[in-house]
Amino acid sequence: MFTKQCVVTLDMEGVLTPEIWIAVAEKTGIEELRLTTRDIQDYDELMRGRLQILEREKLTLSMIQKVIGSLSLLDGAKSFLDTLRDQAQVIILSDTFQEFAYPLIKKMDMPTLFCHNLMVENDHIVSYRLRQKDQKRHAVEALQSLHFKVFAAGDSYNDTGMLLAADKGAFFCAPDSVATQFPELPTTYSYEELLNEFHNFQETL
Ligand SMILES: [Mg+2]
Repeated sequence: MFTKQCVVTLDMEGVLTPEIWIAVAEKTGIEELRLTTRDIQDYDELMRGRLQILEREKLTLSMIQKVIGSLSLLDGAKSFLDTLRDQAQVIILSDTFQEFAYPLIKKMDMPTLFCHNLMVENDHIVSYRLRQKDQKRHAVEALQSLHFKVFAAGDSYNDTGMLLAADKGAFFCAPDSVATQFPELPTTYSYEELLNEFHNFQETL
């Protein structure tokens, strides 16, 4: 049922799925891998640190993929996404990597995903390639240039460009340390609240 031309852009980790790197930290016992964009705002700094740890600990891509394959979506995420996809076009905008995301996207029935790529040599992650810096914000602006209205939701620092650029942006389960820095963005703590924000936005179209 599509009544209005709008696109919903959603962050993936922390909104629909667990944080991949935290899961890897838990499975491997390497505490330093727990840091996410919630802790370190500079994505390149965060990724350089992660790659150094992988190298030091001899963790391969296939080992990490195995961990990711064992993860479930967050409770209620699938039915939330199904409801949303019945009402609007949905694009997942994530700063994860294609090589990581597939098993999770598959569990969501393959929604559209825009993300980045890893550079891999002999199963070792040697580097990464951002498709574009600040891709989330650029994607929202590109959709708006096509005359779509955009509703966006995310949970972290790397979402704020997208949330502020969107016609309406909302936090979903963002930590207070992030949310309080952006008082202009509404904060939601359940899929029901997020759907309500989206429906309120739809009313304005
Ligand atoms: Mg996130």
